[in-house]
Amino acid sequence: MSSSSLGPQQRAGDLDRMADETLDIVVIGAGVTGAGTALDAASRGLTVGLLEQRDYASGTSSRSSKLIHGGLRYLEQMNFGLVREALRERQLIFDRLAPHLVRPVSFLYPLQHRVWERAYVGAGIAMYDGLAALARNSLPTHRHLSRRGALKLAPALARDGLVGAIRYWDAQVDDARHTLGLARTAAHYGAAMASSSRVIGLLRDGDRVTGVQVLDLESGRRFDVRARQVINATGVWTDEIQDMAGRGTIKVRASKGIHLVVPRDRLHSESGLILRTERSVLFVIPWGKHWIIGTTDTDWELDLAHPAASRTDIDYLLSQVNTVLDQPLTREDVEGIFAGLRPLLFGESDATSKLTREHAVSQTVPGLISVAGGKYTTYRVMAEDAVDAAVRNLGGHIQPSCTTDIPLIGADGFKPAWNRRRKTATESGLTTSQTENLLRRHGTNITEVLEMLKERPELSSTLPGSEDYLAVEVAYAARHEGALHLDDVLTRRTRLSIESWDRGLAATRQVADLMGTELGWDESAIAGEIAHYEARVAAERESQEQPDDRTADAARLGAPDVRRMGRG
Ligand SMILES: Cc1cc2nc3c(=O)[nH]c(=O)nc-3n(C[C@H](O)[C@H](O)[C@H](O)COP(=O)(O)OP(=O)(O)OC[C@H]3O[C@@H](n4cnc5c(N)ncnc54)[C@H](O)[C@@H]3O)c2cc1C
Repeated sequence: MSSSSLGPQQRAGDLDRMADETLDIVVIGAGVTGAGTALDAASRGLTVGLLEQRDYASGTSSRSSKLIHGGLRYLEQMNFGLVREALRERQLIFDRLAPHLVRPVSFLYPLQHRVWERAYVGAGIAMYDGLAALARNSLPTHRHLSRRGALKLAPALARDGLVGAIRYWDAQVDDARHTLGLARTAAHYGAAMASSSRVIGLLRDGDRVTGVQVLDLESGRRFDVRARQVINATGVWTDEIQDMAGRGTIKVRASKGIHLVVPRDRLHSESGLILRTERSVLFVIPWGKHWIIGTTDTDWELDLAHPAASRTDIDYLLSQVNTVLDQPLTREDVEGIFAGLRPLLFGESDATSKLTREHAVSQTVPGLISVAGGKYTTYRVMAEDAVDAAVRNLGGHIQPSCTTDIPLIGADGFKPAWNRRRKTATESGLTTSQTENLLRRHGTNITEVLEMLKERPELSSTLPGSEDYLAVEVAYAARHEGALHLDDVLTRRTRLSIESWDRGLAATRQVADLMGTELGWDESAIAGEIAHYEARVAAERESQEQPDDRTADAARLGAPDVRRMGRG
């Protein structure tokens, strides 16, 4: 077994290894699909490389609604197969693969029509739970509530028109940390991997793809990676890689979804909410000391790396959620906003919410497999299908996928570690709640975090502007979690960029100093990182004042990606 640690030395070593060896498989894109694919392939005993142009999970996989779910609304579209498969994956992830990162979450469906609505929605939710039962569901099952029961659970609901509710259960995850966990687990099984490594071309032998050309965005170095099979797992960038091959067998369309983050105390409820909207559904999801409200579903043809939320998107979400709230939310209640792009397989329908969420795996040209579509929840199935397709071309006897039996790094032994959390707190000098937060983010890797804390006890302080994140987690992110830039820590290792009113600005100096110590930044590198982050926050704020996608996109692009700055 290799180390699961992703740090600067590992990155340099893995880049050299990828440049020197001919791999069985190279995977492009470290979202949940690519990281899952690397894990699937490495755990079958194949030699694997994973290349990500920006940070792990920096695309859609850090910007989802963070639900590990079957998707209640796909039942209405009669997509029983997809729901059943996703519910099976939900149970697997919750129970075995990532119990440290996934937790149950309940939703209340408020009812406004006495008879037919309760019967119709109730039947759908009962079927949802029925399909989950087939997958040995261990989450609680749904319950019908009277008007009084609904208001007791969610006093924030408007009294007018409310006749009752149905409460059901799903699961949620920190998507960015989960994808990172997959990447680290793949590294543990021997996969070489590097972020800030953009694929800029394909190597060819006649018609056949034999590898990729890579640009290291940190050093500016260009090099080739040879592989017997290349897997394109680039989400909404799928067509760009297919274009390099001169042929596309899968067509992916980007659909934008935005979310608002509001403080927990602005909406009094013990359960999340699910509401039906004209085009889709809207969730109000508990998220630590916050609520996440989303999402929208609109075509997006502008910048893929930095989708922007416009004023219209924000006002739309507020107007929708306010239809069921007693005290309306306003823009002043919104502390954070994020936008992501669904990689939807191109379909016949014009309304993006009706495009299929199912995935496709296809051989674009010999040597190049593309995998796209699907949902976060079904990443493991997508990964297995993609590697199966590659394996068919590799020949020889290669084992079938075994990822149903591979807990992520930090998952093994989580339950006993959780049970002894009070002792761990006493021994480490942290509070129980701080220890619980660490366990929820790092699982049993908490031991590595606590070892760092022993070396540098001063890192037990919380970061400015945050009650939840400890300074030691920043050092840990740079040493073990592949964080290369300030933005990586403020946006994906922690969620300060959406969970604090100042979007993490108060923490920039301390986080940059801590990262600088680990990564060897000098004062000008630290200043550059801070300036970039400040520019990003300013550009995002400006984009969120714009009336439409085009103006919001132009404003957001006012701040360049930190990886375009290239320090090396
Ligand atoms: C608003 C929204 C809400 C959602 N909510 C849910 C939910 O609650 N539950 C659920 O199950 N699903 C949800 N989804 C769907 C889910 O998030 C996506 O299906 C999933 O994250 C896609 O992952 P991916 O790995 O395919 O793509 P991505 O995460 O986008 O990964 C692709 C990666 O490829 C990299 N890349 C691109 N080009 C190159 C290149 N040339 N070289 C190197 N790297 C490259 C990108 O930088 C990126 O990191 C949601 C999606 C959206 C947009």
